[in-house]
Amino acid sequence: MSFDAISSITFSHVLLPLATPISDAKVLTGRQKPMTEVSFLFAEITTRDGHTGIGFSYSKRAGGYAQYAHACEIAPAIIGEDPSDIDKLWQKLVWAGASVGRGGVSTQAIAAIDIGLWDLKAKRAGLPLAKLIGAHRDSVQCYNTSGGFLHTPIDEVLKNATHSLESGIAGIKIKVGQPDMRIDLERVAAVRAHIGDNVPLMVDANQQWDRASALRFGRAMEKYELVWIEEPLDAHDAEGHAALAAALDTPIATGEMLSSVAEHVRLIEHRSADIIQPDAPRIGGITQFLKLATLASQAGLQLAPHFAMEIHLHLAAAYPTEPWVEHFDWLAPLFNEVLETRNGRMIVPDRPGLGITLTEQARKWTIAHQTFSA
Ligand SMILES: [Mg+2]
Repeated sequence: MSFDAISSITFSHVLLPLATPISDAKVLTGRQKPMTEVSFLFAEITTRDGHTGIGFSYSKRAGGYAQYAHACEIAPAIIGEDPSDIDKLWQKLVWAGASVGRGGVSTQAIAAIDIGLWDLKAKRAGLPLAKLIGAHRDSVQCYNTSGGFLHTPIDEVLKNATHSLESGIAGIKIKVGQPDMRIDLERVAAVRAHIGDNVPLMVDANQQWDRASALRFGRAMEKYELVWIEEPLDAHDAEGHAALAAALDTPIATGEMLSSVAEHVRLIEHRSADIIQPDAPRIGGITQFLKLATLASQAGLQLAPHFAMEIHLHLAAAYPTEPWVEHFDWLAPLFNEVLETRNGRMIVPDRPGLGITLTEQARKWTIAHQTFSA
């Protein structure tokens, strides 16, 4: 029996400009500057038999150049290999760059390749990725994040919320965590009053509270019946999250900043969160995401993956209990396809694979590209 072989991989480093500089609590506490662009690493894979796959990873502010450089260094290790043996190839790529570790930039570079291999496998099977993995549903309830950042005045946040709900999105998330907690409380109260008691509402502090502030804010939030409070504390404070989750009725969500399954396992072991928020491009791709999803499901956690809805819609559709998917409109200019939202849910596309192709505009925003072939 003969199998297919990877004949080439092309990496593209794409800088997506954002229409408005973006600020969450990390900017208001002075830790970061407003974000003006998002960096993407695309991996386009071709096989000897003519199959293709596309995957991507990304970074915000710094790290995009390093992801691209690392991917170019390790890719030759899997040219000529069977594209179906994805976990084996993941391990090979990790070993090719083992001295820089199994988290952060190195796993994020691998993620672009890993996601491209899953896209290829699903396309070859003629199935949407969700179906290849095994879907529990053909749509996932979704909430909007991009309308509720801290650079946005509250009257615009309210308009954005109305627009999201009218677009078929179920829930609204707004950013909190600024130095003056009273302003956060006023914004949450205004949004809750605007959207009414029945619309799912979440808040996200982007790790900017200490334990006491998080508990004080969490107690003040109980009356709003939030779906969750996201990243109340430092992403690695497993004990602090566990204490907060135990003290509050409102569920605690976290995990987007972690860059490996091992880091997530620590949170699971400490019962740090009710809702786990892995990010496939950040933790090394779909292979790692599926391993983590099994552990999270076994631990009875809810799933609400972070960002990259084009990938996470498929992965959320395959989670046993009802998850959430995060709606951002930022990536729309990169892809020819539009994800449909209806009756509060994002519809899993019936196109094979992830169901994405790059726009001409994405090609124009490419600042570097390199092809590796047999
Ligand atoms: Mg977040």
